[in-house]
Amino acid sequence: MPVLVMKFGGTSVANLDRIKRAAKRIGVEVAKGYDVIVIVSAMSGKTNELVGWVNETSPLFDAREYDAVVSSGENVTAGLMALTLQEMNVPARSWQGWQVPVMTTSAHSQARIEDIPPANIMAKFDEGMKVAVVAGFQGISPEGRITTLGRGGSDTTAVAFAAAFGAERCDIYTDVDGVYTTDPRICEKARKLDKIAFEEMLELASLGAKVLQTRSVELAMRYKVKLRVLSSFEEQSDEAGTLVCDEEEIMESNVVSGVAYSRDEAKMTLVSVADRPGIASIIFGKLSDAGVNVDMIVQNISDEGRTDMTFSLPTDQVGRAEKAMNEIKGQELNYEELVTDLDVCKVSVVGIGMRSQSGVAAKMFKVLSDEGINIKVITTSEIKISVLVDRKYMELAVQALHDAFELEKAA
Ligand code: ADP
Ligand code: ASP
Ligand code: MG
Repeated sequence: MPVLVMKFGGTSVANLDRIKRAAKRIGVEVAKGYDVIVIVSAMSGKTNELVGWVNETSPLFDAREYDAVVSSGENVTAGLMALTLQEMNVPARSWQGWQVPVMTTSAHSQARIEDIPPANIMAKFDEGMKVAVVAGFQGISPEGRITTLGRGGSDTTAVAFAAAFGAERCDIYTDVDGVYTTDPRICEKARKLDKIAFEEMLELASLGAKVLQTRSVELAMRYKVKLRVLSSFEEQSDEAGTLVCDEEEIMESNVVSGVAYSRDEAKMTLVSVADRPGIASIIFGKLSDAGVNVDMIVQNISDEGRTDMTFSLPTDQVGRAEKAMNEIKGQELNYEELVTDLDVCKVSVVGIGMRSQSGVAAKMFKVLSDEGINIKVITTSEIKISVLVDRKYMELAVQALHDAFELEKAA
C-alpha cells in the first residue's frame, strides 16, 4: 500500500470535535487505499502550559526533565486520535516516540532525529492496521531518555516519517490554508502562495515564520519529500494549500517572495571588552556551552584596544546568557557592563531573486526610515536581509515592507 503522512497541528486537535473532524479527513485518505501515518501535536496551548510549569518550578531547568514534562501533551492527542478512529471503524493504534522508536541525539529540548526504523509500524500495517497515530515532537536518546525536537517539532516528526517510509506525500494540516507572503494574522494583504521553493521556505522558517519548523524544511529538501501545507478547517482537494518544492518547479517569482518576523528576540551588549585575539572565541564558546543560540553578532570598531560586542538571542535564553557572561566577567573578559534589551524583534525579507538583483537592501532601509523605524542590527545572506528593530514597530515594519515590495501581487 502507498503510505501517506498527515500531520495535525495544535489548533487542528484543540478539542474532541476538532479531533473528530481531523479523523474524518484521515478516513477519506484511508478510503483511497493509503496506509496513513498521522502525526499529532499537543492540543493548542498545552505545550505552552507545560513549558510554563517547568519554568515556574525551575528557571534554569535540567533539559532532561523539561523533555519529560513537555513531551506529554502529544501523548494525550495520539491516544485520543486512535480512539476516535477506532470509533469510526478505522483500524488505528497510537505510538509514542520511544515505541516506534524515533531515535534522536541527546541534545535535550533541541534533539535531532537520527533514525526511524520502519519495521515495527510496517509489521502492524501488514496485520491490517490502517492508521498509525504517532505523537509528534518527541523521540528517545541513545541513553534511553525521552527527548523533544524544539518548538514546532511535530512538523519535523512528520517529514522524517515521510522520508523513512517513502511516503507519497507529507501533508501538514494547520490553521491557515497554506504558506503566505507573510503571516496573514498581522498583514491582511498577505497572499497565499501555490508553491514556494525549499530555499525560500527554509529562510522564512528560520527567520520566524512558524508555519513550518526549519528542520522539517531541511529534511524535506534533503530527502525530496513532497511537502504540502493546508488547512484542516476546509474541505480539501488534492491541489489545495501550498506545495514546498524545488526552485525549478516555479516559473515566475518576485525578487522578494516573503517577509518574516520573530517577536521574541533580545539584544545583549558587552560594553568595552578588551579587543584582542581570542575574545570572540571566549564569549561565544561560553554562550554555546550554556546552550544559548546566538543569532546576529556585531563587533564595534575598536577604540584604544577596547570594543563593544553585541549579539541577539531568543528572549527565553537571556537568563542563561547573563549567568554565563557573569561567570567570565572577572577572569577573562573584564568588560565594563552587560546591557540587555528585551524589547526588540527581527524583521526579514527573503527571496531567491535577490541573488541576481541588487538594491533590495537599500529599498528595505529606505522603507523603514520613511516609517521612522530605527535599525539596531543588520545581517544579510545571499537570499535574505534581516534587521533588528524595536518590538513596538514590528507589525508596522512587516506591513510597510509587504507594501513596498508589492507582495500582494503575483509575479
Ligand atoms: P500548528 O499548530 O498547526 O503547527 P503553527 O501555529 O505552528 O500551527 O503555525 C501556523 C501559524 O503560522 C499561522 O497561524 C500563522 O499565524 C503563522 N505564520 C507565520 N508566518 C506565516 C506565513 N508566511 N504563512 C502562513 N502562516 C504563517
Ligand atoms: N506541541 C509542540 C509545540 O507547540 C510541537 C508542535 O506542535 O509542533 O511546540
Ligand atoms: Mg507548528
